[in-house]
Amino acid sequence: MKNNKKVRVRFAPSPTGHLHLGSVRVAIFNWLFARHYNGSYLLRVEDTDLERSKQKYTDSIFEALAWCGIDHDETPVMQSSRIDNHKKVVEILVQEGKAYRCYCTPEEIIERQKAKDGYNDSFSMYDGACRNRQATDEDSKKPYVVRFAVPQEKKLIVFTDLIRGDITFDIDQFDDFIIARSDGTPMYNLVVVVDDAHMQVSHVIRGEDHISNTPKQIMLYQACGLLVPEFAHLPLILGPSGDRLSKRDAATSVLDYKEQGILPDALFNYLVRLGWSHGDQEIFTKEEMISHFSLDHVGKKGSIFDTTKLAWLNGVYLRTMESSDIVDYIVNNIAPNFIGMLKSWNDDQISQLIDLYKDRVKTVVDLIDQLVVLHDGPKSFDQESVAKWISAQTKEHLVFLIERLDSLPSFEQSQVKDAIKILTKELGIKLVALAQPIRIALTGTSASPGIFSILSIVGK
Ligand code: GLU
Repeated sequence: MKNNKKVRVRFAPSPTGHLHLGSVRVAIFNWLFARHYNGSYLLRVEDTDLERSKQKYTDSIFEALAWCGIDHDETPVMQSSRIDNHKKVVEILVQEGKAYRCYCTPEEIIERQKAKDGYNDSFSMYDGACRNRQATDEDSKKPYVVRFAVPQEKKLIVFTDLIRGDITFDIDQFDDFIIARSDGTPMYNLVVVVDDAHMQVSHVIRGEDHISNTPKQIMLYQACGLLVPEFAHLPLILGPSGDRLSKRDAATSVLDYKEQGILPDALFNYLVRLGWSHGDQEIFTKEEMISHFSLDHVGKKGSIFDTTKLAWLNGVYLRTMESSDIVDYIVNNIAPNFIGMLKSWNDDQISQLIDLYKDRVKTVVDLIDQLVVLHDGPKSFDQESVAKWISAQTKEHLVFLIERLDSLPSFEQSQVKDAIKILTKELGIKLVALAQPIRIALTGTSASPGIFSILSIVGK
């Protein structure tokens, strides 16, 4: 890192929808950056759009962040509670001549634009008509917006993005942009600057869709006499087509992944690797990520979201979990009545079955579904398996098998195995010709963990 400032970063979601993958990755990168540099990770809810902001979205964003294990420092700032401060700054900028009231209506602006260059499309750039105009008595009755007076002495705005290097903007491309609407509410670029300064944010790490806002914000920092933070703009998450990831490509809401049975640590690991690397390593503990993380190894290009890789990683995480932790996770996050759903089994049986199944499933939801089928008996049967393995004769064999198993004094795995093997010998059939029908009878399909293990755990 270039400077020795104490690291203070923030994640600033707008509660106008559920937390999506792109946003949570921004939160994760901020969090890792803060934890790596022993700094602070702050949360600011940008809820000033009163019409579109909803409490239910604030709640669901907090829930998704907590589920991912992204804990924040300090009390979250609700941006709407700071509106008086934002307004005060607008007023000061007007008093200092760095911003001005503009009484032009959009129609007037377009009219002037047309007259000037025959351009008759919609609004492009404001011509600065009110910039040096003395307000008249007539004006005082009219509604107005407040515009920032873009400094004319400058030619370029340059900033060094910590991921992309120097980014230069020609000042001519900016008109005197609006910092407060006609109803008096301050606009995004102004409030972000005022709040980031208030929260003493040292590094603004956010999505690359905000790059074009950064020069405007830098001008506002300078006009307010505030220290300009460092900036880092993260590349976007892309869908398979190479366009920005959309709902058509994959679920985009973080909590949808929870519902699908993806583990938070697997999603976290997957999203960190999507854009950041540490050699070829794919799987990291949180401690490893914190210790290795830096913006130097964040790529400049967007990364393609790969559902198959996420499912693979989730399987890896699931296999490393203790069965008791899997039960706790399911009860606390997915199915509070999980134990009740498997009421014929005791804790030990549940735990042994989880150990047996966790190698074969990709998600926690798959695991629950397969255990419920085993517990309740299949509601449907895979027709291909049935066609291949079940005949009138196999049904008879299964009846013999039930009698045989019923007479066993215990269901030790070796006893079950011997009983089945002896029966196949007596019937003059191969083991598989009885094993597959047993599998289908128990699970509805011909693919399952070993039947001797299943039978001995489930018991008579
Ligand atoms: N509220 C903004 C968003 O959700 C974030 C603004 C920022 O990070 O500067 O995109």
